[in-house]
Amino acid sequence: MKELAGSSGLVLNEPLLFERGKRGRFGMSMPRRDVEYFPVDEELAGSGPDFPDLGEVEVVRHYTRLSTWNFGVDTGMYPLGSCTMKYNPKINEKLAALPGFAGAHPFLPTELSQGVLKMMFDLERFLAEITGMDAVSLQPAAGAQGELTGMLIFHAYHRSRGRCRSKIIVPDTAHGTNPASAALCGLTPVKVCSNERGVLSVEAVASAMDEDTAGIMVTNPNTLGFFEENIRGIAEVVHDRGGLVYADGANMNAVLGIVKMGAIGIDVLHLNLHKTFSTPHGGGGPGAGPLCVGESLAPFLPVPRVVMDSGLFRLSSDFPLSIGQLHAFYGNVGIMIRAYCYILSLGSELKKVSQLAVLNANYVKEKLKGILHLAYDRACMHECVFSDKLQAPLNVSTLDMVKRLIDYGFHPPTIYFPLVVQGAIMIEPTESECKEELDLFVEAFGEIVKEAEKSPELLHNAPLRSKVRRLDETGAARNPRLTCAGVIERGKDTA
Ligand SMILES: *Cc1c(COP(=O)(O)O)cnc(C)c1O
Repeated sequence: MKELAGSSGLVLNEPLLFERGKRGRFGMSMPRRDVEYFPVDEELAGSGPDFPDLGEVEVVRHYTRLSTWNFGVDTGMYPLGSCTMKYNPKINEKLAALPGFAGAHPFLPTELSQGVLKMMFDLERFLAEITGMDAVSLQPAAGAQGELTGMLIFHAYHRSRGRCRSKIIVPDTAHGTNPASAALCGLTPVKVCSNERGVLSVEAVASAMDEDTAGIMVTNPNTLGFFEENIRGIAEVVHDRGGLVYADGANMNAVLGIVKMGAIGIDVLHLNLHKTFSTPHGGGGPGAGPLCVGESLAPFLPVPRVVMDSGLFRLSSDFPLSIGQLHAFYGNVGIMIRAYCYILSLGSELKKVSQLAVLNANYVKEKLKGILHLAYDRACMHECVFSDKLQAPLNVSTLDMVKRLIDYGFHPPTIYFPLVVQGAIMIEPTESECKEELDLFVEAFGEIVKEAEKSPELLHNAPLRSKVRRLDETGAARNPRLTCAGVIERGKDTA
């Protein structure tokens, strides 16, 4: 096997804390007792949890070793399609930790919160400018919550016109959260298929759009990594029949400073600050999925909203048509600060982010083409989608190949999504990776494909050099073990 970043094998083992330690061992030095001795009630003392007794070195090593098992963008390339796992600049963290931000409390009076409120006010203006939309709410805590907010606004808009529509058009290349968010609002998703170019045609949308359809949710660029080039015509058809156009802008990383969503017929759009705007993500949050709308839908945005009058920023809930509040206080402010910092530190260079992200994706696409089967052979945006079509006859699957990538030191890409490509391998390198790193990634895939031809059984067992081997994911989902009771019992035996 070729030696790459992840193949050194230096992964330290670490048992559970319950399996370590010795009765009576102590992690700190207590000062001499200066009060009278008082015996602890034996019965009470014995009824608490049976924590292991550990020394300081054991504890420090335990957690430090565990921390080395983590893989993240600070460790290596993380080409997870549709997730934009880009580098999170450390200056963002430093500024989010400024005492004025870190120490702010939502119950502070308005006069003492002017800095935070101004940051939020400005960030809304920046995002409106970047997307070409008119008004923004920073409240949604994730992309999916942004979608939900958007669908509630669709509903409020139609209701304000005295009607209720029950369906929503969702293309087969949409992100999976789209139909889920729509269904949560009581809308029935109607699937529309993309064409041979991997995008929607105006005709396909026209034939699905009727007077009972609230509108359409388009992921743009879509999950095949293509820009919906017919979006203006699609928007026209939807608007003509009284509907609204929602754009899932979680993939805005491909078009920052290049496409003004407001100008191509989009009425409502969400962004993912925790993708495009470099705030850390993964592991369940926190995130932020700001919602951007055109002028006519602004009255429906969630409250409270940041407003400014006579030079003073404040929060206002005085918007009678608002759909209401979606998150405690005003959303995840710490995430907003990081995105604010990212935007200000790049300024007009933001456009270059997208240009480089697209360049990197196309570089990987061209280099891997031929090694892997390219699902749609045309220029892509921020990501490219391959499949296991060439390896399937060797009895090697997408899962086998990406698990083997772990042995080569790379996080696997998104797989088996989008559903329109069988055995999909969806790669999004982002702009953060340099050419040498991309070349190593391509080289690793090249090696894996050679292995697939020579010894497919090796790949069936991959990963071989990671902390845990191939997991039974179905078993874990269907039959989860959510307690550590068994572990504690074992700990007692060895105490
Ligand atoms: C990530 C993503 C979402 C969902 O965002 P969350 O913050 O995970 O809820 C929605 N749409 C697209 C296209 C995405 O890539």
